[in-house]
Amino acid sequence: MTRRNVLDFVQPHWRNLDPYEAAEPPESLAERGGVTEAEVVKLNANENPYGPSPKALEALNHSARAHIYPDPGQVAMRRALSHYTGARPEQIVVGNGSDEIIDLVFRATLSPGDVVVNAPPTFGMYDVTAHICGGVIVEVERDEHFDIDVDGMLTAAEGAKLIVLASPNNPSGNGTPLEDVERLLSGDCLVVVDEAYAEFAGRSVLPLVDKYPNLVVLRTMSKWAGLAGLRAGYGVMNEEMAEVLMRGKPPYNVSQVAEAALLASLEDAEILDERARLIVQEREQMAGLLAEMRGVEPMPSDANFILCRLPEGRGKAIYDALADRGVSVRYYSRGKLADYLRVSVGTPEQTGRFVEALRAALQQTA
Ligand code: PMP
Repeated sequence: MTRRNVLDFVQPHWRNLDPYEAAEPPESLAERGGVTEAEVVKLNANENPYGPSPKALEALNHSARAHIYPDPGQVAMRRALSHYTGARPEQIVVGNGSDEIIDLVFRATLSPGDVVVNAPPTFGMYDVTAHICGGVIVEVERDEHFDIDVDGMLTAAEGAKLIVLASPNNPSGNGTPLEDVERLLSGDCLVVVDEAYAEFAGRSVLPLVDKYPNLVVLRTMSKWAGLAGLRAGYGVMNEEMAEVLMRGKPPYNVSQVAEAALLASLEDAEILDERARLIVQEREQMAGLLAEMRGVEPMPSDANFILCRLPEGRGKAIYDALADRGVSVRYYSRGKLADYLRVSVGTPEQTGRFVEALRAALQQTA
């Protein structure tokens, strides 16, 4: 009997998966910059520089229920998020980060061979997750301003199962106008609108969920609420779709600790909104400073980061020169973003250190 090679057990579409290119963690950044972890200016993953809210920190310090399984029905979280979003609790599903909601929606809907329409450059997990499901990605590139091509996407969507759209988009920072989202919704696909950065944009397509059963809106506690390390995100959608995801999700997908911090953050919504306003102010401040540098062009952003065009051919060298100074931003090795860096908006002090390091990096690489 010839025995199977271990990789023969693996589904064909899993054998050559390209993993998500995650941001470098603080440990390796510190080592590279020759600084302590605390000294690293970490502007590479769009985290919230102010961290969790006071009530969330308090909840984390007193999470006495760690020995008890969390509520699979997510009653308390769905109720609190209903209050926050204006949607009904039955329309909400909470996940281990919004990454898990992407995973659940894609796995619930995609059979191998189903087409997903994507608008790159955009968040890398859509590609990864579609491929995990055996889906076929059809890319309709954004234009030179990183706006989506609505007609192109609608044409590509004929016979497709799913359209996925980040608004504001990561990494470009721009949002998609409501009318364009409605045009995408008028087709016969499920449309996933990822609003991870909505709180910095001040607008949302959430009010459309009741009008369009084919709309799924993704939100996260990672950015606005500063809980990226705890993993809590949610989807808002048609009740029947939410019910399907609730049945198919792992029962204890959101930990007690993440739940406690999510609930406490929502009680602190005013403080978190105020911090979001500070971040938006800082974003505009930083955009002004970047625009003054020769060869540097910041893209307009509605999010908590800025995509920045650099002098041609110098993206990687500038990224490295920044890293050597303990300043970490996001660099994209592939495609047309090779001359761009994405920098998260931090505190005013972090902006100062980033801008100073960028000036030096520009000189050094000239
Ligand atoms: N969507 C977008 C557009 C993102 O940029 C990110 C995080 N980088 C996510 C989703 C994932 O967020 P979460 O931490 O909730 O999994």
